[in-house]
Parts: sequence; C-alpha cells; structure tokens
Amino acid sequence: LSERVELPAQKDELYELSAAINELLSRIEKTIEREREFTSDASHELRTPLSSLRGTLEVLVRKERSREEYEEKIQYSLSVIDMMSNIIQQLLTLARMDSASDLNKQKKILLPELLDQILERYTAEIKKKNLKIDLQFQPEIDTQVPEYYSNLIMDNIINNAIKYSGRDASIKIVLKEIDGHLVCMVKDHGIGIRKEDQEKLFNNFFRSDALNHKDIPGNGLGLSIVKKSADAINAKVEVESELNNGSIFSVYF
Ligand code: ADP
Repeated sequence: LSERVELPAQKDELYELSAAINELLSRIEKTIEREREFTSDASHELRTPLSSLRGTLEVLVRKERSREEYEEKIQYSLSVIDMMSNIIQQLLTLARMDSASDLNKQKKILLPELLDQILERYTAEIKKKNLKIDLQFQPEIDTQVPEYYSNLIMDNIINNAIKYSGRDASIKIVLKEIDGHLVCMVKDHGIGIRKEDQEKLFNNFFRSDALNHKDIPGNGLGLSIVKKSADAINAKVEVESELNNGSIFSVYF
C-alpha cells in the first residue's frame, strides 16, 4: 500500500484521477495503521490483568494458605476478571458500531425520555453516594435523537459524572435548544481534569493519572465510545474542566 500511482506530467483528467487514487490510498493506509495500533493497545490492556491473574493463582497453588488468604486472593482474581470482561464488552461495542446496517440504529427517541432511562440504570450508585441529580429541560422540547448512539454518548458521560463525583455531590443535567439544535450539558463537581489531559480524553484507553484516581474503576474506553458515536450522528462534544473543581461535558446534537 505504500506504493503510489505515478502522476502524469500534464495536469489533465488523468492527472486528477491519479492524484485522487493516491489520496484514497493514503487514507486507507492511515485507517489500517490506526486499526493496527488499536489492536496492539487492546492486547496490551488485556495482557496486563491476565498476567496479574496468573501470578495470583500461581502463588495460591505453590503452598497451603490460610482461609483468609485464599478468600482475599480469590476476591482479587474475581475483580481482575470483571475488569477484563468490561474491557471486552467495551471493545465489542466499539467494533459493533462499525456495522452501520443494523436497523436498530435508525430508531429515534426524545432526549428527556432517554435521560430518564439512563438515570434509572444508575439509581443504585446515585443512592449509594447520596448524589443529588438536578435534571432541567424545557418541556416543549420535541426533537428526537438517534437512540442507539445518543444512549452510548449520554450513558458514558453520566456514568463518568457519577464515578468522578465525591459523596453528597450534586450533578446538573441541562437540556436546551440553541438555534434549533439540542444541547445537553452534564455538570459535575467531581475531581476535574488537568488542562494537559483534556485533549487526550477521547483517545483509546486514556486515563488521567492525576489525583487518587486509581481507585476509581475504568479502562479509558468510555469516551472513545462517546467520540465514535458522536461522529456517527454528526454531534459534537465539548469539555470544560478544572482540576478539583468539576467538569462540564456538553453534547451538541
Ligand atoms: P474511564 O473508564 O477511565 O472512566 P473514559 O474514557 O470514560 O474512561 O474517560 C477517560 C478519562 O477521562 C478518565 O479516566 C478520567 O481521567 C477522565 N474523565 C472523564 N470524565 C470525567 C469526569 N466527569 N470528571 C473527571 N475526570 C473525567
């Protein structure tokens, strides 16, 4: 693929066609390179927990342990397995997004209805952390959005707002129409994001290593799914954030 069509000397139709073919070849080459990188990153992200799991189990079979130690190591192994299945689940979501033919993806929904469904899924977490969710929207909003992609976008953003908020915090979700376009803003008062990390947020597997972030489960694929879904429906996602001061994720549908 690194080969290119030789451009004719004369700038005629044949020249234009050759140039267009070369441009297409470059684009295909870039896509293949991106896929290669993604596969290699994904293998690395799965190999790390897998070796940790192997190490833990090897220690367990080497010699007799106390019941407490067995329980502790098994609990740890289960959490590593959960983490790996989350990565696999997210990778499948990313892969499935490419098969655009799915009729399911044409289905539309009213955004307030979708937000209600998403919040319902997080009832337990919201209750556990005693979060206050403030959902504001003009009742006359009747623009429908593509359900499949909008759900992936809003679910991941709301999940993050919940995950990265401390106990008793409040999260504001505002839905409004600006110049005929639907905008949904999710504002949290959580740990916030460093300036230098903000441009990397949507990269595959990126997680900020600031703060005590390591204890919060995640794999850095949520916002990749958000970005890919937004691209699929021509939506735009903007981030405003300050370390220790919370974040606002705005989606322009
Ligand atoms: P993760 O599974 O790590 O949450 P995401 O792709 O959803 O992966 O997010 C990437 C990173 O962006 C997170 O690890 C975190 O560092 C940062 N981030 C995303 N949303 C927020 C938020 N609301 N508050 C603080 N940090 C966030």
